[in-house]
Order: sequence, then structure tokens, then C-alpha cells
Amino acid sequence: MKILFLDQSGKSGGAELCLLDTAKPYQAGSLIGLFEDGPFRSLLEEHQIPVQVLSQTTIRVRKESSWLTGLSSLSQLLPLVARVVQLSRQYDLIFVNTPKALVVGAVASFLTDRPLVYHLHDILSREHFSASNRRLLVTLANRAAWVIANSQATRSTFIAAGGRSEISSVVYNGFQPEKYTQKSVSASFQTGISKFTIGHFSRLSPWKGQHILIEALTHCPEDVTSVFVGDALFGEQKYVQQLHQQIEQLGLRDRVQFLGFRADVISLMGACDLIAHTSTAAEPFGRVIVEAMLCGKPVIAAKAGGAAELIDHGVNGWLVAPGEPKQLAEMIQALRSDWQTTIAVAQSAQRQASDRFHLEKVNQQIHQRLTQVLDDREYAP
Ligand code: UDP
Repeated sequence: MKILFLDQSGKSGGAELCLLDTAKPYQAGSLIGLFEDGPFRSLLEEHQIPVQVLSQTTIRVRKESSWLTGLSSLSQLLPLVARVVQLSRQYDLIFVNTPKALVVGAVASFLTDRPLVYHLHDILSREHFSASNRRLLVTLANRAAWVIANSQATRSTFIAAGGRSEISSVVYNGFQPEKYTQKSVSASFQTGISKFTIGHFSRLSPWKGQHILIEALTHCPEDVTSVFVGDALFGEQKYVQQLHQQIEQLGLRDRVQFLGFRADVISLMGACDLIAHTSTAAEPFGRVIVEAMLCGKPVIAAKAGGAAELIDHGVNGWLVAPGEPKQLAEMIQALRSDWQTTIAVAQSAQRQASDRFHLEKVNQQIHQRLTQVLDDREYAP
């Protein structure tokens, strides 16, 4: 099967890391087209997945942009659309992985009669998208042969925004469990003997809620420290400054470390005692939650969106209300005070997650449906 995959980003966010795993089985004869250059291109090259950067300029329009900004970016989009249309003719199917890729891919699908598949990694709600962008995305996605929602949460917001339920289904991200049980522990951050380290693995962005964990530290004993892994991928520099100010104001300089974006998440997780996931808005899926489980680490997450689907409270992790630092601190303390039970839950979560999110199964599910999409096209009147 020859697939043209499209993604707007040159950075390795969750959607891109998922695309890497989805595209791998099709590397012979397929192509990933990116709308900007960046570390994600190098990562794909490392994995021998054919990749091309299709645009030399970054498209200005953002999720929250108005239709006017959208219109003004047409001059950037047209050459890209022309390039994608030309490329599409060499492939059986167009697989779009991000909203801007959907816009370009939908036009190419219409003009070349290639079926369109959209992997939806976003909650199409007003917190994340302007009304005009939501309308546009849903209208275009409704032309797809299949919309793969990465959680019930993304699927239900898609349907609530006018998306067709009959073309959409949920497929959770897949992972390779064996990668997460390596015993290599990174020495790349200091863990003192009596310290209890909470890891936070997310790009730095206000809705990812790093500030909630920082505030929670003030309600925890002094030996509780935190390490933040991830960078501001989409220009959230003001938030980064605010985090540093918050740490100074709360006198937490010795209890917080920022490591920036890291490619060795698994070994860093291995060096933490507990993982916190603190999104203040509904998380579309939450790869980090599954990764923590696969590492056998206890994970506390904010109860909203995909996170609430992944975690069964007290069974394979713990849920707290989003945006509530005190509740988070109380949960941390409760888990510490009964550490044996906490570890038992984490170990059971590891076993369960290895089966539930196995990449091989997920890729099989996707392959079957893509084959069906192509068969339906062949026999269509
Ligand atoms: N990640 C990474 N390095 C970092 C921070 C995060 O490789 O420094 C990875 C993390 O392991 C996860 C992904 O980025 O696989 C983030 O996915 P998630 O669904 O948690 O959030 P998103 O970025 O898609 O909102």
C-alpha cells in the first residue's frame, strides 16, 4: 500500500511520534510530507522512513486564528497544495495527521480522487480552536473515508462539532512495551538519597499545567522534588518565564529542575519515583500516561479527556481534578504513605498497558481498515 502521509510540524510532538509508529510498516513506497523542517525530519530519517519537506515557509495560521488570518495565508498554502496534488497522484491514499495537513490533503484528495484518512489528535473544542477553524476542519474531515480518533474524548468532540459518527472510530496510540522495560537508568539529573522525585514529561505550555505541579510542591514535604522534561515547542516563551518567576517567588529553586526536550524519556522516567500529568484542559490522549505505566511508574493525571479513559482510579493509576495543586499534593502524600500498594498498582498497570496499547495490535487494526478503504474505493460504482 502506497501512502502519502502529511504532517504540518517539523517538531516531534505526540502526534508526530505516533505518526512515526503508524507510518513505519509502510516505509517501502510511502512518503511523509512535512510542512516545515525540524528535528522530526531527522528522526524519520534515522528510522529510514522516506520524508520530504514540502514547504520552505511556516504557515502563519494557528488553531485559534480567525477566518481572516486563514484567508491571508492562502498565498502560502497554494504552492503547497499544488505540490501535494502533484505528489498525491503517485500514491493510493492520503493520510493526514494534523489540522493544516487536513486542509491541504482534503483539497488534494478532491482533485486527485485519492481516499482521505484523517488521524485526529486534537480536541475540537473552543479552548483549542476558533469557531471558524472548527467548522472548516469538521467540514473537510467529513469528506474523509475514515477519521481515526485517538480517544473517545476526541471522537465525541468531533461529533459534537458536526462530525459524522459513521466514519469515525477510536484507535488508541500503540507502543512497544519491550522498549520501556530496559533497565538503563539515566544519571542525567540529580536524585539525592532522601529525595522523592516527581517527573513531568510534556512540552512547556500553559494548558499542560507545569505551574500546577510547582504549586503542589509547596504543599509537600521538603524532600519532594520535581523534574520537568520537555520544551516550549510552539513559542510559549512567556509561560516559561512565568514558571521561572513562580519558582523564585515560592523559593523552590533547589527543588525543581528543567531538562528541556529529551530523546531519552524512557530512562529519565526510570529515574523518577512518580509521574505527574497536570493538563488543565482536556488532554486528547496523553502518551506520557501510557509511557509511565509501561515503565512501571505510578502515575497521577488530571481527570479530563483521554487521561480519564486511560486511568481507572486506584486500579492502574490515580486521577485528580484538573488545576487543583492541593489535591495533587494530597494524592502524592497518600501514595507515599502506602508505597507498597502504590508499587503494586503500578506493576499491574504495566502488565495491563503492555497488552492494551501494543503497537502491533494497533497497527494491525489500522492496516485492516486502510485496506477496506482502498477495497471500497475499487468497487465503488
Ligand atoms: N516527549 C519527548 N521528549 C520530551 C518531552 C516529551 O520525547 O522532552 C514525548 C513524550 O514521551 C510523549 C510525547 O512527547 O511521547 C508527548 O505526547 P503527549 O500525548 O503526552 O502530548 P502532546 O505533545 O501530543 O500534547
